[in-house]
Amino acid sequence: MGKLEESALWQAHIENYFGFSEKIDGKVLLEEGLKAIKKVGVDLVFEDLVAIEPLEIGFKLTTEKEKTITALSLVLAMGVKRKKKVFKQEEKFVGKGLSYCADCDAWFYKGKKVVVLGDGSAAIHGAKILKKFAEKVYFYGLKPFSEGELSELRTVGIEVLEKKPVEIVGETEVKGIFLEDGSQIELDGIFIEIGAKGPIELLAPIGIELDPETFSYVKVDRKMQTNIKGVFACGDLTGPPLQLAKAVGEGCVAGLSASDYVKEVLKKTKEG
Ligand SMILES: Cc1cc2nc3c(=O)[nH]c(=O)nc-3n(C[C@H](O)[C@H](O)[C@H](O)COP(=O)(O)OP(=O)(O)OC[C@H]3O[C@@H](n4cnc5c(N)ncnc54)[C@H](O)[C@@H]3O)c2cc1C
Repeated sequence: MGKLEESALWQAHIENYFGFSEKIDGKVLLEEGLKAIKKVGVDLVFEDLVAIEPLEIGFKLTTEKEKTITALSLVLAMGVKRKKKVFKQEEKFVGKGLSYCADCDAWFYKGKKVVVLGDGSAAIHGAKILKKFAEKVYFYGLKPFSEGELSELRTVGIEVLEKKPVEIVGETEVKGIFLEDGSQIELDGIFIEIGAKGPIELLAPIGIELDPETFSYVKVDRKMQTNIKGVFACGDLTGPPLQLAKAVGEGCVAGLSASDYVKEVLKKTKEG
């Protein structure tokens, strides 16, 4: 599942991949890969995943369009999230009213006022989650959202801002935002949700272990197994070198490991 145009490969011209003596357009490789996947009958879902919930056996996945899928095992191949800054002094407010994860922090804003800024499915999802806790939720799209998406937010009582937020108000903690027309909104929290949900936002609630040095990559063993039983990870998500050959090799190992895991679970279920 996921979106082709959000893959690193979509933007790449691969110059060092086995079997190709000339530069190859990443888009061409992706499209060829897709044809091969379709041939073996895999169901494709071109949507972002917005939540993962562990079940007694397996996992429940929710997509941005609120489709639910259950799976015995997961192979995460979500690449790396390239974080863009929205405000100049953003880092100073992290944990002091500024959050990158509505699913993790919404609870702390019960009865409070917040704004969600974002450019993808995670922003819409984040705003809806916050509406369950916060007294007032504002939303600002960092890219144009469809009228359908915005009216869905308005229907649940979220106020969509027309003017761009340009600066955080506050000395040591978030007190509000200045908008481009000079007006100000008082706030307790700012949520920035850029791109699709990354593995950290998706998996932190179920306790995924990250590499202890950068906290940016998912920790795996040689079978690409994470610390969560049945969850495997591969590619850029597991850390450098961020190269296609590594992603493909790890993907092969992760797929085989997940298949072994599923066979084992099914065998145990039959036995007892
Ligand atoms: C400009 C550029 C040039 C490059 N040149 C080279 C090169 O010459 N040689 C080389 O070996 N490598 C190169 N690379 C790196 C290579 O493209 C990556 O290493 C490779 O694509 C990693 O594959 P991946 O599957 O791990 O991640 P990606 O290809 O980034 O794929 C991640 C996928 O996960 C999906 N996803 C993310 N979040 C979610 C979510 N919440 N729900 C559902 N889906 C989600 C995305 O939509 C995307 O389709 C280059 C990269 C770039 C950006």
